[in-house]
Amino acid sequence: MKTIGLIGGMSWESSLEYYRILNQTTRARLGGLHSAKLILFSVDFADMAAMQHDGNWADISAILVEAAQQLQMAGASMVLLGANTMHLLANDIEARISIPLVHIADVTAAAIKAQGLGRVGLLGTRFTMEQDFYRQRLIDRHGLEVLIPSDSGRTIVHQIIYDELCRGQFKPESCQAVLAICQELAAAGAEGVILGCTELELLVKDAAAAVPLFPTTRIHAEAAVNLALGS
Ligand code: GLU
Repeated sequence: MKTIGLIGGMSWESSLEYYRILNQTTRARLGGLHSAKLILFSVDFADMAAMQHDGNWADISAILVEAAQQLQMAGASMVLLGANTMHLLANDIEARISIPLVHIADVTAAAIKAQGLGRVGLLGTRFTMEQDFYRQRLIDRHGLEVLIPSDSGRTIVHQIIYDELCRGQFKPESCQAVLAICQELAAAGAEGVILGCTELELLVKDAAAAVPLFPTTRIHAEAAVNLALGS
């Protein structure tokens, strides 16, 4: 079994979920007392979120590159960046390590295509929904059509993520608000919706939605276990 390196704390609410899924999936695959071999490098999210909102991606890049290098030096065979948004810096990190970075958008696209879907909605932070690093990758590399919410919908989702989910608050009314936005995306033609923020699946469950949801924490963690177990 290979050792998984996880850069977490972005926020730690979703890192807990990564830890649970990595271990549960490993036990489901290997049985008995098996659990995942992993190394967690967890950052202080207050600093990271402030730099994001200041547009100071250079300093975030330096922190994440160093974290990835430390995971590699500590014996990790791969790096997971435990946040969709931080994949804005995936190229910087990949260029500075010699182990693979398991890109969250690539494994999510694979899960979407495995269900035979071609047009999906994307929910996440404003950075993820509006900038090219994520949406354009889904389009260019994976041939998907990607819909995003209206400006007001994007504001709602972004605020729920930073003001509630990353602070450990999971409110029924926010779940309803996100489901309503999923419904709008479905009405606009989305065949599924990517929960492209690693905390969103803590708020919204698949059964309640009009179309299939793609929970990126679960998809990312399961892909890592597949790699770790060589399958
Ligand atoms: N965890 C979130 C994501 O997947 C948001 C926090 C962040 O901006 O890193 O994008």
